Amino acid sequence: MHIAHEPHDPARLLADAERLCAARGLSFTPLRREVFELVCRHANPVGAYELLDDLKAVRDTAAPVTVYRALDFLVSAGLVHRLAALNAYTACQGHEPGHSGLLLVCGSCSNVIELEDVELVRSIARSAAEARFETAPEPVEVRGICRACRTPGHE
Ligand SMILES: [Zn+2]
Ligand SMILES: [Zn+2]
Repeated sequence: MHIAHEPHDPARLLADAERLCAARGLSFTPLRREVFELVCRHANPVGAYELLDDLKAVRDTAAPVTVYRALDFLVSAGLVHRLAALNAYTACQGHEPGHSGLLLVCGSCSNVIELEDVELVRSIARSAAEARFETAPEPVEVRGICRACRTPGHE
């Protein structure tokens, strides 16, 4: 297990995304790239409507469906994770094939730390399988308090 990222680096994420799409033959259209860049620009998880507002600044015809379609692509390509608990999106910091992340979500500042813990995710899938339950290929979300929020004197 290791921390898959640190610090948050939008330029690196975009370069990784371009490489990944090229390697898998995925079409990284200008719109998909713009939405991905907007997600990356937010260090914290961002909601679809906030992304829509961002996108309207450069494409005034952008509609909710525009953003949702681009997000669907980015999530299925593994470039972006949807955080069910927050109903928000965050850029994937990992990108390994078959990657399934473990997301630590701070309940105070919404900061997300992504860990790669293949064993844990497999273990959850195994236990679920014993209950004849098939898990979705979605990241595991764990809520808590991040280090910055626990530091004395932090506002
Ligand atoms: Zn990820
Ligand atoms: Zn925090």
